[in-house]
Amino acid sequence: MGTIFARLPGYDSSLPAIGTGSHIDSVPSGGGYDGTLGVITGLYALAQFEPGELKRNLELVVFRAEESSRFGFSCIGSKVLTGHIERSAWMKNTDDQGLTVFQALSAAGYAENKLASCELAPARYDAFIELHIEQGRRLENEGKILGIVEGIAAPTRFRVTVTGLADHSGATPMYQRHDH
Ligand SMILES: [Zn+2]
Repeated sequence: MGTIFARLPGYDSSLPAIGTGSHIDSVPSGGGYDGTLGVITGLYALAQFEPGELKRNLELVVFRAEESSRFGFSCIGSKVLTGHIERSAWMKNTDDQGLTVFQALSAAGYAENKLASCELAPARYDAFIELHIEQGRRLENEGKILGIVEGIAAPTRFRVTVTGLADHSGATPMYQRHDH
């Protein structure tokens, strides 16, 4: 998936690492800071210390294929790392050229059967810290420079086929509707 790792070793590398980073792909009109801010600041954090200065490993993870721009589903890079490859669902979506994510991987010289070996051990990280640019206007409107996330949106996409009888949505009483 092109995920990039950079590690600053701690003096006790047997401990789970502290992870940081974000994604480097974006969406059209996503702005110049989207995931890139978390990548650059993570790299900056690693550069503040000497190897062996911190107790734990500090690891920068640069995720790719996190947005749904190309294949219509998101978090491909992180799903592969966490062992959540959704093969049958991913096979149904194609990019503008008609390629599935697996065909695009193959064209780039990566074997699909190697994907499972990309899974990270759950104990690899003790914590993960991501700085992300605000994508709404709450902080900006309140004149605040930083916020701490307490909840994360979990968008889910469905492709549905609705069969029935087309009619006016306001003027047709329920008993005259023929939705199946
Ligand atoms: Zn983002």
